[in-house]
Amino acid sequence: MEKVLKGQIALVTGASSGIGTGVAKSLAEAGATVVINHSSALSHDNAEAVLKEITDAGGAGMTAQCDVSKEDEVIRMFADIVATYGTIDILVNNAGLQRDAKFDEMTLEQWNTVININLTGQFLCAREAIREFLRRGPRPEVSAATGKIICMSSVHELIPWAGHINYAASKGAIKMLMQSLAQEYGDRRIRVNSICPGAIQTPINKAAWDTPQALNSLMTLIPYNRIGQPADVGNLAVFLASDLSDYITGASIFIDGGMTVFESFATGG
Ligand code: NAD
Repeated sequence: MEKVLKGQIALVTGASSGIGTGVAKSLAEAGATVVINHSSALSHDNAEAVLKEITDAGGAGMTAQCDVSKEDEVIRMFADIVATYGTIDILVNNAGLQRDAKFDEMTLEQWNTVININLTGQFLCAREAIREFLRRGPRPEVSAATGKIICMSSVHELIPWAGHINYAASKGAIKMLMQSLAQEYGDRRIRVNSICPGAIQTPINKAAWDTPQALNSLMTLIPYNRIGQPADVGNLAVFLASDLSDYITGASIFIDGGMTVFESFATGG
């Protein structure tokens, strides 16, 4: 891959599995130094394994333990990154989870867990990234933009999702967080965009692909007729983080094999 991110520092939250791992590997392949965030001591070994894959392939980076929903931990993680590398150029706000329940049975804890991690976590990390971009100012030697933020949203910022209302609400809110940030900081040359994946094969949606029956049922929603892979999202993240997309800000880019063209209407019925 062309080294379009050479000399840039990237943080990927929730990078010890799934899409975050795919994005971290792709950014590293494109020349970025990558900080692999993981949430707890339990995910430390997985994060180190991702870092090893990156360094074995000639890339560079470090791991950083931090629960993105905790303000003090996020502030400390960004301070560590700046102390180690001098600054940060790219934030990929990827960490997220589901706590599914029928709405009338949903507990406040299920609601708060999803909102705190999926939405407040993106707020906290974006705020620290923006503070650092403003402090540091332009770095024209590495990028036309002063900083880039990529928010991991979902097709569920558009498609309502019964049984997952906390998750859909968090992704709908990310759309407005992303667009309002793009509006507020565009004149400082800070670009903010969202990636909206459909079905990507990761632990979060294992039940949707781990049997042939489940996979067949999933395919009825996907015109392109395959499940997405973390590397598909990684390629898009490289594009959005690089100057190849320098005139794109405030955009939600769907990467879903066509899920949002609503396959169930294909017969015109
Ligand atoms: P995943 O479960 O493999 O990855 C989620 C990561 O977030 C995990 O590494 C987890 O440890 C981390 N995380 C959870 N809570 C955290 C916290 N408090 N602090 C830091 N990290 C934390 O699932 P994934 O599919 O790779 O999901 C990544 C992102 O992509 C999520 O935001 C998810 O909503 C989004 N997404 C996934 C799909 C899909 O089909 N897989 C579709 C649309 C959107």
